Amino acid sequence: MAIQKHDNLINGQWVAGAKYAPNINPSNLADVIGDYTQADAAQLDGAVKAARAAFPAWSTGNIQARADALDKIGSEILARREELGTLLAREEGKTKPEGIGEATRAGNIFKFFAGECLRLTGEVVPSVRSGVSVEITREPVGVIGLITPWNFPIAIPAWKTAPALAYGNCVILKPADLVPGCAWALADIISRSGIPAGVFNLVMGRGSVIGDPLVTHPGIDAISFTGSQSVGARIAQQCAVNLKKVQLEMGGKNPQVILDDADLAQAVELSVQSAFFSTGQRCTAASRLIVTEGIYPRFIEAMKQRMASLKVGDALAAGIDIGPVSSQAQLEQDLSYVEIGQAEGAVLVAGGQRVTCSTEGFYMVPALLTDTTAGMRINREEVFGPVASIIRVKGYEEALAESNNTPYGLSAGIATTSLKHASHFKRHSQAGMVMVNLPTAGVDYHVPFGGRKGSSYGSREQGRYAQEFFTTVKTSYIGS
Ligand code: NAD
Repeated sequence: MAIQKHDNLINGQWVAGAKYAPNINPSNLADVIGDYTQADAAQLDGAVKAARAAFPAWSTGNIQARADALDKIGSEILARREELGTLLAREEGKTKPEGIGEATRAGNIFKFFAGECLRLTGEVVPSVRSGVSVEITREPVGVIGLITPWNFPIAIPAWKTAPALAYGNCVILKPADLVPGCAWALADIISRSGIPAGVFNLVMGRGSVIGDPLVTHPGIDAISFTGSQSVGARIAQQCAVNLKKVQLEMGGKNPQVILDDADLAQAVELSVQSAFFSTGQRCTAASRLIVTEGIYPRFIEAMKQRMASLKVGDALAAGIDIGPVSSQAQLEQDLSYVEIGQAEGAVLVAGGQRVTCSTEGFYMVPALLTDTTAGMRINREEVFGPVASIIRVKGYEEALAESNNTPYGLSAGIATTSLKHASHFKRHSQAGMVMVNLPTAGVDYHVPFGGRKGSSYGSREQGRYAQEFFTTVKTSYIGS
């Protein structure tokens, strides 16, 4: 069967880029999902011009029409969640149920922001001057570049695109070149939603080719980026020089604290979930399990038992817990950190090796390292794979200090039956999101998402807090 070609969406038209690249299934390297075009800087420039031309009408247009279009997009995603979730599992390697869950989330996000189109408010306040009144309103920012990573191929494009459009901005979406399939499917749905040409543009391509031209383009007013800390820091510098608004969501080295008084079965389940589900490829994955000494031996034994029952295999097969790693480069990175950890003195007590399945793919058994200490690279650097390390601590105070002992601050979890410790941890954790007796990963779509320290920069994403980034405030003074 001929491999289908997928083009960029620019000014309402599907247009071929400079070349095509194959989208390969990490569960089966012989399976080519499709060929996806790759833009160059000239094509990107055309997309920005189209978005600028569409902005005046869209930004001042009818909000009911905006709400209807976003609602229609959400409805189509939800109606096709099984098909889109399957595509997601095929291109990224999450299991099919996880893929369907992510597609559902994307649909719900569009529905949520359809409502937000109608809920934007301002303020009228008295002036300190007689005969004057003051109005504070929010307006769209302009044309926004959205740059997304490979690990949430539909949810992250959705959670940036939906608020950008809801608040009246025009968009250039540049998805990760490893997983363009879901972003293309989303663009296809948007192209049939009634949103005018040029308001939403999909520009696929490599970050090394169109990243700089997008971030530094004078026609782009703001950049919303999710990805690695190194690329994020570079984008922040470029935006500062060009005085653009910027929002960055980056990596994590998330702690999961297990106290002596935790329910052991629950602690093991949420640790396995946090560390290894979605193949550990979540920015909110727990990679540092910080365990107090009273429960330490029992916890390790129970983890080993639970991990032995995990089924690694083809993301589309039934009954699989852990799909493949997304790429050869990521697999090599994961395996190398298992080596690095052991060279630093850690003990590998489970998994950590590549495995073969019926098809050739990037399969790896989740790894658990014990006897690790805070200074080790395995506890400082983001691995971004199914690799977790255990740090043994004396009690709660040390566990809290250790959980905060990281340059990152995205998500942090605690497993405990103590209200006192749970409440203290919620207040004193230096993370943007705190989980009590829940996995560090897995969040609601209608509330703010984001971190502190090296994990995030700029205002929060998602929920109504998204308006901080996607609108700009105007203060108007009215005399009599
Ligand atoms: P990445 O930084 O390599 O790439 C992210 C995006 O940036 C891709 O679209 C890429 O093409 C683009 N890019 C690359 N170079 C660029 C440049 N010079 N200019 C502009 N854009 C450029 O990240 P990744 O490997 O795709 O994703 C994994 C990372 O994302 C991990 O660090 C993970 O923690 C992070 N992540 C964070 C969150 C969060 O919300 N905090 C969510 C998901 C993933």
